[in-house]
This record gives sequence, structure tokens and C-alpha cells, in this order.
Amino acid sequence: MIPYRPEPFTNFADEKNMNAINAALEKVSAELGRDYPLVIGGEAIMTEERLVSVNPSAKKEVVGSVSSADQALADKAMHNAAAAFKTWSRVPVEHRAGYLFKTAAMMRRRKHEFSAWLMLEAGKSRAEADADTAEAIDFMEYYARQALELKDRGQQTLVRLPGEDNHLEYIPLGVGVIIPPWNFALAIVVGMVTSAMVTGNTVILKPASQTPVIAYKFYELLVEAGLPAGVVNFLPGRPDVIGDYLVEHKLTRFISFTGSRAVGLRIHERSSKVAPGQIWMKRLVAEMGGKDAIVVLDDADIELAAQNIVASAFSFSGQKCSACSRAIVHEAVYDEVVNRVVDITKGLKVGDVRDASNYTGPVIDEKALNKVMEYLEIGKREGKLVAGGKPAGDEGFFVEPTIFVDVDPDARIMQEEVFGPFVAFTKVRDFDHAMEVANNTEYGLTGSVFTRNREYIERARTEFHVGNLYFNRKCTGAIVGVHPFGGFNMSGTDSKAGGPDYLLQFTQPKLSSEIL
Ligand code: GLU
Repeated sequence: MIPYRPEPFTNFADEKNMNAINAALEKVSAELGRDYPLVIGGEAIMTEERLVSVNPSAKKEVVGSVSSADQALADKAMHNAAAAFKTWSRVPVEHRAGYLFKTAAMMRRRKHEFSAWLMLEAGKSRAEADADTAEAIDFMEYYARQALELKDRGQQTLVRLPGEDNHLEYIPLGVGVIIPPWNFALAIVVGMVTSAMVTGNTVILKPASQTPVIAYKFYELLVEAGLPAGVVNFLPGRPDVIGDYLVEHKLTRFISFTGSRAVGLRIHERSSKVAPGQIWMKRLVAEMGGKDAIVVLDDADIELAAQNIVASAFSFSGQKCSACSRAIVHEAVYDEVVNRVVDITKGLKVGDVRDASNYTGPVIDEKALNKVMEYLEIGKREGKLVAGGKPAGDEGFFVEPTIFVDVDPDARIMQEEVFGPFVAFTKVRDFDHAMEVANNTEYGLTGSVFTRNREYIERARTEFHVGNLYFNRKCTGAIVGVHPFGGFNMSGTDSKAGGPDYLLQFTQPKLSSEIL
């Protein structure tokens, strides 16, 4: 088999590529405003209650409306998925992986179309949308290969005794509830669904309410690839109506969640209660927030550090759990770094992502915008505002990239996740002080250190307590198979998506031993 290789990013400086994505945008724009069903066991159901998805760059533009499940439909979906599990769990892994390879190939052919949906539904720039689609393809290519490898892994690691034939197999768990976020509205949906499904589980996909249409487009692709009905059930619904219900359902065997700390902890608590008739302990895989820091030491390349702080803090308006929201800078270079970051930031244009000259697009919705505005007020009490600090036009949910400086490490804007284009700077005395401040949050997802000093690098490798630690580069943009992704403490269960251990979480090892 051809070894896994990450999907290359598209170079939009090449006119040919720019024309191709613009053509895809045109095609997708003509498809806006349609109605989509929910799908249970292959049966498409239109409900009266709808979830309406709008373009965050142009809030009057309806991307689509999807059906919204009530608890009765959620129950029906659980029973369908449980029935489908009986057959799907016995389908040979080679066939299950085959669906992923096929879907990946189909998505690759229609790459720009998927990216165009991401631009319109999630407010991603061309480059960010392209990276999201590439990551979706990567997840399928990578997990398919991982599932095939897992088949042999048990056999290869067993200790042999003469006269015995022993087998260690990684068998699936059952029905999984998949609750993905809206920020990687394609990649993370695809990663969470396909990892569970390729290992033999069946799933209920409850897409994020802000981005259900792109999730449906992926579901459609699975159907086109010939995936049997009932393996993936597409179940949009209001979180307050079906969220807890799915988590607490007795047929739920595991929950795979990516999203906020608050929702993750709620699922953690609710999923630990045993429902009447439930005969297992539910498993939870949860990827939550971050309060990620970039540390700049006295010997750093200032220009490199400044460029990467800007990219990590403001690309996709800071709406990544990996985004840099704290800059921890050595006093010797503090002013220089701040000035350069402010300079670059002031040159960033904010606006509708269809205009390629806009670097910073919208935040996802009104609620997100209000949250950023609240933290702007908090920030004004806790630090000095040196860039941004205002909404930017009201066609969409725009806010200027915002920088606060001279902020205390214990301030709220240094502790709480804002999930917007928002970064706070603090000054440190030396390396030890930098590490102390860097580790001073309840999260532990990503971090970067800018230095040329080998000793600092090696010490940070041990002392900086984050799941994804980077040196002299941005703290966003993990690549499947290359940078397995996940964090410590309140950042979640450190599941390491896109890593060699990820699939194990959706399996249980079974040993059989035969005396010969
Ligand atoms: N994996 C993404 C990155 O490295 C972040 C994922 C997320 O925000 O949930 O930037």
C-alpha cells in the first residue's frame, strides 16, 4: 500500500487554483438556502422544527436549514445504530477501511467545493478552509491505514508459548455519540466519525448547530461511497433537547466529543451515571479548550516570533483550541516583540472571507461576538489595549484583532478561553519565570517557544506541560500523522487525534487462547 502522506495545501497565489476555488464558490453559492433532512438508518426525515445555518460573514445569507431531532427521533436513531452494529461490527476491517479510502478519493476530487462550503458556513478564509478540507482527507487516509495495522498489532506483541494458539484482537465497542465542534466543521467531523466507524462501531453524528450543512455534505459523500445504512446516522438537534438525552441513553457505549470545557465536563458527569438497563461503563473521549501560550526568550528571532504570534492568534479569528491567546515575552525583547506584533496586526484587513484581501474573517455567531465584547471590557480593566478592541462592521460577526499588553498572569484574560481574535501579553524576567507563567492555567493544550538556545529547548521539552509543544513555529496547524493532537488537564483526555494510539479508544482488546 502507498504510505500515508499528508494532503498538500493549495497555493492560491497560483491563478489556476484561485480560479478553481472561485468557481467552486459560485457553484456552492447557487446551492445556498436549501433544506436538509436528518437521516436515521438510511431513512431521510424532514422535521418541522429546523436549525437554520447562516453565513457568519453575511448574516442575512442562509446557508441551509436542517431538520432538528426531538427525543423520540434520537431514541429511534440509537436503536437503529444498535441494530446496524450487529452487522457492521462483523464487516472485515479491509472493507471498512475501503469506504474511507473511497470517500477520501471522492473528497479530494471535490476539494474546493468542500472548502467553499467551509468559507460560507464557518467563515474560513480560502487558506484556512483548504487546510480544513486537507485535514479531513488526511484523517480518512490515516485512520484507514491505522485500522488495517491494528488488525495485526495484537498478534505481533503477544508472547508465544509452545502448544498454544493465542489471539489478541481489537474489537469495536458499540454505538458512539459523536459531538463535534463547529470550528473544524469538516476535518474534526470527519476525523471523529471515521475513527469510530473504521474500528467497527456505528455512530450518531450530532453536528454542531452552527455548521450542520457541511456535516451533511460529508454524510452525503459517505452514502455516495456506498456506506451501508445505519452505520452513520445524521442527527442534528438542539443541544438542550437531545444533547443530554443521547449522552445518558442506555445504548450509548461511548461519546466522542470536541468542544468547550463547560460542555465536556457536563458530558463527563452525565455519562458516568448508569442508566437503567445499561450494562457497561461509558467511555468518553473529550477534546476541550486551551489557553495556549507562545513564549519568546531573549535570544529569539524577533521577526519570526512576531509573525507566528500573529498567525497563531488571529488566523480563523483565533477560533482554534490551539490558538495563541497568551504571549509570554522576556523583558529584554518585550517592547520590540509587542511593537512588531502590533505593526503586523494593524495591517490585517477584517471582513467577508470571499474577498481574498481579508485576513481575519468573522467569528461564528452573535453569541461568540458578544463573548469577545465582554472580554474586551474585562481586558480594558486588566491591561492596556494596543490594537483592535472594536467590532468591525455589522454585515457579519466581525471583530478587530485585539491585543492587550502588560497583563498580569493571573488576570481573567490570561486564564479564560475567549475563542476570538484576542491575545494578551505579559512580561517575564527569565526562562524559569516564563515556564512558571506558561504553566499557570488549568489547560495544557499547545504552546510554542521561540529561542535559539539548545538548553532552553531541552528544558522546555520537560517543563512546559502541554500536549503539543512547538519550537520556533506557530502553535496551531497540527498535521495528521505528523503532530498527533490533544492536551492535558482541562484540555481533555489527550486523545491525540491523528496519532498512532487514537483508534484504540474506540476498541476493546479481546484475547482468545486455544490449547493445541
Ligand atoms: N488541530 C488544530 C490545530 O492544531 C486545532 C483543533 C481545534 O481547534 O479543535 O490547530
